[in-house]
Amino acid sequence: RKIESDYYMGQELGKGKFGLVRLCKSKATGEELACKTLPKNGEENVHMEVEIMQHLSGHPNVVTLRAVYEDTDSLHLVMEFCSGGRLLNAMSKNGCYAEHQAANLIKELVAVIKYCHEMGVIHRDIKPENILLTSDGRMKLADFGLSVHVANGQRLSGVVGSPAYVAPEVLAGTYSEKVDVWGAGVLLHALLIGVLPFRGESVEAIFEVIKHVQLDFQTEKWKSVSGPAKDLLSRMLSRDVGKRLSPEEVLRHPWIMFYTEPDI
Ligand code: ADP
Ligand code: MG
Ligand code: MG
Repeated sequence: RKIESDYYMGQELGKGKFGLVRLCKSKATGEELACKTLPKNGEENVHMEVEIMQHLSGHPNVVTLRAVYEDTDSLHLVMEFCSGGRLLNAMSKNGCYAEHQAANLIKELVAVIKYCHEMGVIHRDIKPENILLTSDGRMKLADFGLSVHVANGQRLSGVVGSPAYVAPEVLAGTYSEKVDVWGAGVLLHALLIGVLPFRGESVEAIFEVIKHVQLDFQTEKWKSVSGPAKDLLSRMLSRDVGKRLSPEEVLRHPWIMFYTEPDI
């Protein structure tokens, strides 16, 4: 079947490097959904993106894939519509986040990262452009276009991801699922003080900062941030992968435990 026979296509919701995402409405039920159209001739393995989304769709914090349509040159992914938009937009509107808000967001994000890893998937593109919000403010992890399936302990190579969020070991050679914790750490930094930790005029300059620059908690901006928040951040952004916290350890960190409700 053609996508147009089942859905009315609406306004553009977003555009990434590869996909165009539009609002759509089911002709059968009237339900609003989001449709991501991916060209099949692109460099990305679009079938892998679909397969990984299907594999992970059971989790409440993963954007659910509802249907897939294929025509000669594109795949159309019909997903649940996240009407709260991107976390990125909410962040630029809010500036910094209160610590309890940041802690709750990071807890939800890291819990879903933990789930991905348990399911054998590394997301590899954790950033606020790929974190969507529902109408009731919950977060949904989206965009599995750079994600990979890995066997236990398998190491990956090749630089992928968005420059400001790339982990140092990715630049150095081989890496594992800990890159997703680094990405969440970059996000936490931005939530706490409103700026990204690793900035530069060019991709090369950003990579140099990622490889060499230490976080400096002595600056004015950090004065109002609590000690435990800084402790967690420095452990998520540890360049030593062995010392970097696992998702499980992040969830048990005192700062997370203090500001969030325990899971039952
Ligand atoms: P790309 O792989 O091209 O980066 P994404 O899957 O990240 O594509 O989608 C691009 C943008 O489209 C997102 O940043 C967001 O603004 C919007 N978008 C994607 N999926 C949805 C959705 N399910 N609901 C609402 N907006 C979405
Ligand atoms: Mg994206
Ligand atoms: Mg993508």
